[in-house]
Amino acid sequence: MERRNSEKNTEKDVRKRQWYYRGSLKSCNYSCSYCPFAKRTCSRRSIQADKEAFFRFTGRMLQQQNGGAVQIVPYGEALIYPYYWEGLAALSKSPVIDAVGAQSNFSFPVKEMLSVYRNHGGELEKLRLWGTFHPEMTSVKQFVQQCRFLTEQKVLYCVGAVGVLEQLEKICMLRKMLPDSVYLWINKMDGLGRGYTDAEIEVFTEIDAYFWQELKHYRAEISACADSRFVEADGRMRQCNISRQSLGNFYEDSEAGQREELSGCKKKECGCYLAYCNRKDAVAPFFRPYPAFRIPVYPRAVFLDIDGTLVPKGNMRIPKNTARGLIRLSGKCEIYLATSLPLEAAKRKLSPVWHVIRGGVFANGARWQAQNHEKGCLDVVVPMDTAWLTGVREKQKAYGFAVHVYRNREDIYKVTLSFHRVRTGMQMPEQKQKELAQVMKISDSCQVLWEGNCMQITKKGTGKLAGILEICREMGYRKEDVMAFGDSSNDREMVEYFS
Ligand code: SF4
Ligand code: SF4
Repeated sequence: MERRNSEKNTEKDVRKRQWYYRGSLKSCNYSCSYCPFAKRTCSRRSIQADKEAFFRFTGRMLQQQNGGAVQIVPYGEALIYPYYWEGLAALSKSPVIDAVGAQSNFSFPVKEMLSVYRNHGGELEKLRLWGTFHPEMTSVKQFVQQCRFLTEQKVLYCVGAVGVLEQLEKICMLRKMLPDSVYLWINKMDGLGRGYTDAEIEVFTEIDAYFWQELKHYRAEISACADSRFVEADGRMRQCNISRQSLGNFYEDSEAGQREELSGCKKKECGCYLAYCNRKDAVAPFFRPYPAFRIPVYPRAVFLDIDGTLVPKGNMRIPKNTARGLIRLSGKCEIYLATSLPLEAAKRKLSPVWHVIRGGVFANGARWQAQNHEKGCLDVVVPMDTAWLTGVREKQKAYGFAVHVYRNREDIYKVTLSFHRVRTGMQMPEQKQKELAQVMKISDSCQVLWEGNCMQITKKGTGKLAGILEICREMGYRKEDVMAFGDSSNDREMVEYFS
């Protein structure tokens, strides 16, 4: 199942925000032993009050100029009530709302409720459901039946369970029986009383490649928060479900949620998925732009920088965990590199995973490779004028550097001058960089990029983005089919272009 990329290409002038709504409901049809809402019944009056509050919320949302996505995060189970489906349907029809969804135990009568959604004009492609598997309350078979129906109806959803070791067998069975395209998340178990062992982490990571997100500790930091609003039934608003800092009332502000004066949230940690997923630095990029739904979407192609991104600075090889992650990712999308390293050096650093690499941009764009079905392996270099090279070689001793020349047959596409007098990994001071560039008399048709103690010289106009665009043209990737990741200044252009 593919999530549409319309979410990625949102109009810049419409503010897109992640909205959460929690009604007054505090009851559930399940009775999980640890839950305060277990088998609590609700009076007709309280259900009516919850319905009115929800429709008040949807009505107000529909008046907003700015949109985004709405996730219902009830205490208890909301999706057994048709009015939630009716309200979600109404929201989904808004042109400024990209997606609507709810957390659920997936016990609702799925055919009947989807009919309610459809009958109220709900757009199925905007629906995102989150189903938590409760092994105490339902069997794997029953749960998967619900999931299969949703898959048949082309509804996007994620499922998940708490990482309880005693339930591991059932969780593994669930993984096996679910369609491959469905993401199964694992939440860390809070009452474990100890950390998970390495072996346990490995087992859960096999099931949920993003289990690492759960294991990290995120110190609460309001400046790290993305744009989100959590709205209660009475309209009280906060940044997220656990924040203790009020952001006013959804029904009282003129353009709800526009108050920006928040300076803190009075929490020490963003302690659960619903909180930390709102941070710009927490979840894997495949969950964006609306990570609250917890549904990853993979582009057709991913371009990854090597040094500092796949391989920590100073390391010679990709770490084992990263290698495993990359191999898993290669089952979801095509992996390319975007590196300033020459091809041979990239190969050495990534040798354990080289078999999953489809090509990439090397030598900062002066060479690129891709496997085209019709044309075979494309290996293109951008040669440069090297008349200046003889003069440079003569200065080696005096200035203390070694010359590395990278060529493909006769064509020289990159020259590196590595200066011994600057410690490896240390950056050459800027003034010195300028002086050396003048002394070397490198042709104006070339460009210089400094990386630590190395002066990298390629033809003017080469760059990672330019190389990626060549690959995109050859492989038929559209801009929205691609993601690019890197951590240094020469990655900024490609990262911004594809974000
Ligand atoms: S399904 Fe969720 S809300 Fe319902 S009893 Fe279980 S834990 Fe509580
Ligand atoms: S607890 Fe919530 S508001 Fe506070 S930093 Fe974390 S996500 Fe942001």
